[in-house]
Amino acid sequence: MFKDYLEVKNYISENNIKIIDFKIVDMSGRWHHLTIPATRFNESILKDGIGFDASSYGFLKVEKSDMVFIPDISTSFIVPFSKIPTLTMIGNIYAIKENRERFEDDPRYLIEKAKKLLVDKNIADTALLGPEFEFYILDQVSVKNDINHMEVFIDSKQGEWNSSSLDSSNKGYTLRNSNCYHLDKPFDASSDFRDMVTLYLEENNIPIKYHHCENGGPGQVEIEVCHGDISEMADRTMKLKYILRSYAALQDKTVTFMPKPFVGECGSGFHIHIHLFKDGEPLFYDENGYSKLSKTALYAIGGILKHSPALMPFTNPSTNSYKRLIPGFEAPVSLCFATANRSAVIRIPDYATSPMEKRFEVRFPDATCNPYYAYSAVLMAVIDGIENEIDPVKEGFGPFDFNLYNLNDEQKSLIKALPTNPIEAADALENDHEFLLKGNVFSKNIIMSQINKIKKDYYKINEMPHPEEFKMYYNL
Ligand code: GLU
Ligand code: MG
Ligand code: MG
Repeated sequence: MFKDYLEVKNYISENNIKIIDFKIVDMSGRWHHLTIPATRFNESILKDGIGFDASSYGFLKVEKSDMVFIPDISTSFIVPFSKIPTLTMIGNIYAIKENRERFEDDPRYLIEKAKKLLVDKNIADTALLGPEFEFYILDQVSVKNDINHMEVFIDSKQGEWNSSSLDSSNKGYTLRNSNCYHLDKPFDASSDFRDMVTLYLEENNIPIKYHHCENGGPGQVEIEVCHGDISEMADRTMKLKYILRSYAALQDKTVTFMPKPFVGECGSGFHIHIHLFKDGEPLFYDENGYSKLSKTALYAIGGILKHSPALMPFTNPSTNSYKRLIPGFEAPVSLCFATANRSAVIRIPDYATSPMEKRFEVRFPDATCNPYYAYSAVLMAVIDGIENEIDPVKEGFGPFDFNLYNLNDEQKSLIKALPTNPIEAADALENDHEFLLKGNVFSKNIIMSQINKIKKDYYKINEMPHPEEFKMYYNL
């Protein structure tokens, strides 16, 4: 938005901005914030930054937790519905040293390093990325009740937009919507809500491709963002989740990106479309290739499929992530690529036919990830695939243009599966992370921290008696 201090200063006075809100990304991909009155904003903040205690950000040990952040004014945006005129900007994290030095594990720095490696290796000068956000919009009331009535929550009877049998207003029994993919109003009950959010996002330089109702009933929806530069898209991902959640809170709604909130209902994925360009020319198109894909695109696919299990601690970091990746709900389970096939890890959309549009969709990630780490890790696998000419056909990754949910035993022995739990994924990363260390993009520290976090969460959840176990074992 801004290029220099003066532009910010002028904007502040011309628009009567009262508050400056600084956002800093933590290791799990959440924003923390520090806030100052606009009158205190000065040039030295952009030069020397502001010191802060990063002990709750997940990066370093508590005993050496002091860091500095310097706001990146180019990320500035206005939260449209804030009561006090507020200008928000995202900060970069620096280690406390004499000459300010970027903190190596700062998520924003990581994605810059990954982008630079792509250019340094002379593979491409631009990586475009298009994320698809699937999520549930629920009543705050029913979610609170659901969590207090865990058994009901697990039976997934709750969460109806504006009505539920647990609602304190006791509106009585209501039919649940399901199979509502692209369904029209009034069954698409949150359409106006999404229209409003879309306008706010567009105002804040986040062009929206479209939004629609998804298949999971009740309340599952999707917003797709127009493709953009990979690091810019990581910032946009944060802004989108923030604006969406803030607006939902104003409407007494809540939004969840949890990959599998309800048993028996569709989970929420975070599909990522990728394509590379050099000197304005698309690198993924070849008139004569499989599905009109170039060799470069196939190698990129090969890199992702080879490293998918190792990517998952970054792209699917929660214990809940693995509950989504099961047959029957349009989520991928098999490590392969195919055209227009929703059961494959990589789908080549049939509708994107022109050279500039030619791309593939990576379907396993979910939005509980830190987008900076997830996008960087996927790009590193693409770089590795292209550099080492990893041919997905020779590696046995397809293409498999048939339903992968109903494999016979012979097919099962041939087609590799995605990890089915976090421990498998953590082990995969432990054994396969050289490709992430290239160009010092990922540090050993961040890889080990992520592995430890994944395992810790898994053991925590695994040792809890599950409500369903009471039904199965109580009377045995
Ligand atoms: N909700 C599905 C998933 O978990 C995807 C549905 C779709 O392809 O749009 O990935
Ligand atoms: Mg979808
Ligand atoms: Mg998709």
